[in-house]
Amino acid sequence: MEFPQFFPIGHLAPRLVGMDPIMWDPFRYKLGGRLLNAAGEEFVHRYGGEDEGRYVTTRDIISYAITKEAEAGRATPGGGVYLSFEHLGENELREAFGPVIDRLAANGIDLTRLPVEVSPIAHYHMGGVRVDEEMATRVPGLYAAGEAVGGASGANRLSGNAIPEALVFGETAGRHAARFADGKAGGAWSREAARPHLELLAANGGHGVGRRPGAATGHNTGAALGELRAELADLMWENVGVLRTGAGLSTALERIRGLVRQLEEIPVPGEGPYNLARQDWFDLRGGLMTAESVALAALRRTESRGAHQREDHPEMDPEQARNQVVRLDSDGRLACDWMHRAA
Ligand SMILES: Cc1cc2nc3c(=O)[nH]c(=O)nc-3n(C[C@H](O)[C@H](O)[C@H](O)COP(=O)(O)OP(=O)(O)OC[C@H]3O[C@@H](n4cnc5c(N)ncnc54)[C@H](O)[C@@H]3O)c2cc1C
Repeated sequence: MEFPQFFPIGHLAPRLVGMDPIMWDPFRYKLGGRLLNAAGEEFVHRYGGEDEGRYVTTRDIISYAITKEAEAGRATPGGGVYLSFEHLGENELREAFGPVIDRLAANGIDLTRLPVEVSPIAHYHMGGVRVDEEMATRVPGLYAAGEAVGGASGANRLSGNAIPEALVFGETAGRHAARFADGKAGGAWSREAARPHLELLAANGGHGVGRRPGAATGHNTGAALGELRAELADLMWENVGVLRTGAGLSTALERIRGLVRQLEEIPVPGEGPYNLARQDWFDLRGGLMTAESVALAALRRTESRGAHQREDHPEMDPEQARNQVVRLDSDGRLACDWMHRAA
């Protein structure tokens, strides 16, 4: 779970409406777009990358390099770095970008005259649910595939491998799920085992959110959830993002657990049509559990590997060339264990 992948050159500025924030990747690849800090210097080579107009440096190194330049005070006004195609002529750009150049012009972006600002963004999760070779989870009858599953990409996914992974392992999961379900009449489930979840779903919180839109209590619940969510996002970016330290991860872990307690104090907003506060409550609950899993595993991994970069442990440790598994303990707490090394 400690391995989210950061996409290094997400679009930051100027405003780009109606276009994909990771659109720059293929153009940079084709044309050798230059990454420059606020002083106009190329910098990726300072962090072990080999950029120089080509595109051979991995995503983790470029994300790290951009974040370090920002930390050193050499960020652009938006907080990232420049991506420049200014060394290319208008015709060359039009040939490579095709109609995209007109959509950029509609956004006021002329690449012959100005660079754009880019920054790392969270992109993909190498971690995920643990499955066996049939894509079965530990819950009988529950199969998983795609990005929700961990393991296929190790510590760092190669570009382009996620969609094939979802398709290939999705077929395997579907086949085995069908075999499992074949001939079975209905799900065998125990109301007693599901009791805590059913109680949670039935808890309407008494706020009347969704029944009386805009009622003060409903509005307050929505605002409180929004604040917790925003704090979680900032906390993760600052402490569990591209640059990590033991101290930062411990701070994050403690605060995430505090946010879990704060969420428990907010009653589940009631049922009702289009009740987004209710959805937000459950999204945040899942988000907090994921955040805690990531921070917990990252704190225990005292090395740098793939997309997990520890400032206090910059080297790779061969002893840690193995997975960690996060699980719920019988008391409902998250616990993390090292798996045995592969023979
Ligand atoms: C901007 C971007 C560009 C990318 N480009 C590439 C690329 O070029 N090549 C490549 O290989 N990979 C790429 N990736 C990664 C790849 O797209 C994803 O890993 C892949 O699409 C994941 O597929 P999936 O089916 O596992 O999950 P998803 O596509 O995320 O599908 C999960 C679905 O579940 C739904 N869902 C979530 N919660 C619930 C719920 N509670 N109830 C019901 N439904 C729910 C979601 O709405 C979603 O539709 C890119 C990713 C991003 C973000």
